[in-house]
Amino acid sequence: MKQFSREHEGAYEIAHPENGREIDAMSKEELYHRVYHDTITGHYNWNYMWSKLDRRHIPAEFEYCFVHFDIKDFGMINEVYGHDNGNDLLKLVCEQMSKETDWVYHSVRCDNDNFAMMTKAMPKEALLEKLQMFFDRISILPCDESFRVYYRCGVVTAEDSLSKNDRVADWAKFAQRLGTKRDCTEIHFYTGEMYEKMKQGKYYLTYLDQAIKNDEFLVYLQPKYDIHTETIVGAEALVRWNYKHEKLIFPGEFIPVFEENSVIGKVDQVVLEKTCKLLRDMKEEGLPLYPVSVNLSRRRMENKHLLEQLVGCVDKYGISHDLIEFELTESAVYEGEEEMFHLLRELRNLGFKISMDDFGTGYSSLSLLLNMPLDTLKIDKCFVDCIDADHEEKKECKLIKAIISMAKDLSLCCLAEGVEKKEQVEYLRKIDCDKIQGYYYSKPLPGEEYVRMIRESK
Ligand code: C2E
Ligand code: MG
Ligand code: MG
Repeated sequence: MKQFSREHEGAYEIAHPENGREIDAMSKEELYHRVYHDTITGHYNWNYMWSKLDRRHIPAEFEYCFVHFDIKDFGMINEVYGHDNGNDLLKLVCEQMSKETDWVYHSVRCDNDNFAMMTKAMPKEALLEKLQMFFDRISILPCDESFRVYYRCGVVTAEDSLSKNDRVADWAKFAQRLGTKRDCTEIHFYTGEMYEKMKQGKYYLTYLDQAIKNDEFLVYLQPKYDIHTETIVGAEALVRWNYKHEKLIFPGEFIPVFEENSVIGKVDQVVLEKTCKLLRDMKEEGLPLYPVSVNLSRRRMENKHLLEQLVGCVDKYGISHDLIEFELTESAVYEGEEEMFHLLRELRNLGFKISMDDFGTGYSSLSLLLNMPLDTLKIDKCFVDCIDADHEEKKECKLIKAIISMAKDLSLCCLAEGVEKKEQVEYLRKIDCDKIQGYYYSKPLPGEEYVRMIRESK
């Protein structure tokens, strides 16, 4: 049985035929079938694909493209429609893969809702077209025709599969993970640049603890202004990485890597700690104190001791709870909603403020507004960007107006993010937005500059 018992190959574990019945009692055909087939769909499994990817069995110059995809919200489909209907969708995908014989050499269900295909080598555009048509054919849920199913797909082209043969699945999965939208099928092609980014990301991960020890994370503060009095009313703490004390890296480059690997809490905690320390120093100097918001990553919700960690840190510096606000993005609430609401309620009971960040960019925004314990709504920059000279006519402007009026009905404070122009401020003032955060008033400032500004305005 040795040939079936390789330890860890490619992107998935290789199933062992020893699992289950005694091998002796199985015929050779049965054994073969079990090793290479998936029990739920009857289709081929990852073992099968792995054998097809093995360069010992295919000519070195054999060209193919590699595709890996999964079903968006499959967990939710299972929850809402039940596992049998979920399984029917898995079967539908497998049936369709089997039918695509003119361009698909091999197709498998890897595990859960993960699938892979080895396809004919073809130009990127041609493959994209084939894949779009393929996903279109499997976009209806068998048990509910009104439900659209979307996919996240990563592709390695023939050029790359030749040189990266044993890693194609990893690369395709890597490209697949770039699909983050909720309501469309996304197809991403792997590129060498992605590889460099991934290598860099991996390095950031291994270096993170050292960077914290070296005190490389800095907190910048971006002031928030009252739109009517045009005076400062608070600030948002935004992290910057003074990487090896050599260059400043912006959060967009490292936060996603840390979030994906669930280590973002370490950075968020440093930011909270530094924010509290800054407020304590300002308090000791007798400066006026304004509330500061810190971003709370959704991945931290998995941490059972989160509440104690947050409260412990703020109390250690003797900071009044109403000076700290936690910002959460809408998407943060998607999984484990109840636990999260519970945490937010506890934080609010303790006097902290909660705001919803990037409002309007996520999913289920409206129902969240009703259910989430909230103080402030931060309207995303993408809406503000739409405000220009002929703004009154624009759909987006009408939308901001409606959001603000609805938020007011719910007694929420409204803050517009990323405001850069005078006409944006004027329009937002006219429609009764409360606060503004954006380059128009101030960019994020290093801690000491923020303190200097407050000192001077005293
Ligand atoms: P965010 O929380 O929505 O923060 C606002 C971002 O918009 C900041 O970018 C800020 O510099 C930028 N911004 C503010 N006003 C303007 C403007 O007028 N024009 C333009 N073009 N940009 C403006 P930044 O600092 O690069 O942060 C990006 C994102 O990274 C943040 O978005 C937040 O999601 C995340 N982030 C930043 N610091 C932390 C942190 O300490 N922890 C966590 N978990 N995430 C953080
Ligand atoms: Mg924020
Ligand atoms: Mg934001």
